[in-house]
Amino acid sequence: MSSTDRQSLKPLVYLTRIEKFCSAHRLNSRALDVQTNSQTYGKCNAVHGHNYTAEITLKGTVDAITGMVLDIAVLNEIIAQTVMKSLDHKNIDEDVPYFRDNDIVSTAENISVYIWKVIAERLPPNVTLDSIKLHETDKNVFVFRGEYA
Ligand SMILES: [Zn+2]
Repeated sequence: MSSTDRQSLKPLVYLTRIEKFCSAHRLNSRALDVQTNSQTYGKCNAVHGHNYTAEITLKGTVDAITGMVLDIAVLNEIIAQTVMKSLDHKNIDEDVPYFRDNDIVSTAENISVYIWKVIAERLPPNVTLDSIKLHETDKNVFVFRGEYA
C-alpha cells in the first residue's frame, strides 16, 4: 500500500463494549421428552441463573472529524434498549419472545445469536458487528461472528 492510499483510506478500528447481566433460564427442548431433556441437560434442565458477561465487538471506520468509530453513548443506549432491557433480571425462557415464541432453547450459543440479531439491526451504516462473545461462567465462553454453515 502506498502512502497515497493510506491518506485516502480511513483506518478500520474494532471497538468492544463489555456488559454484565443476570438472567434465569432452564435448558429444555420442547422437541425432546422429559427423560431425554433430563439426560441431555442434566442439572441445567432445572431453573437456575447466571451472571453473564457479553463482549460486543463492532468494527468501523474512524470518522475524520470526530475521531470515533461510534459514540460510546450511542452504543451504550443501543445495548441498554436491547440486551439489558430484554435479558437483565429476566427469565429468558418466559420473558423473551424470541425464545418463548420460537421454542428456542436458551443455551449460551442461542443467547449469543439473539444478542447479535438485536444489536446488528440497530447499528448505523458505517459500523458493522464483528462478534458477540458471551461468558456464561468463568469457564464457558461462546463466540458468534454472524456465520452460518
Ligand atoms: Zn444455565
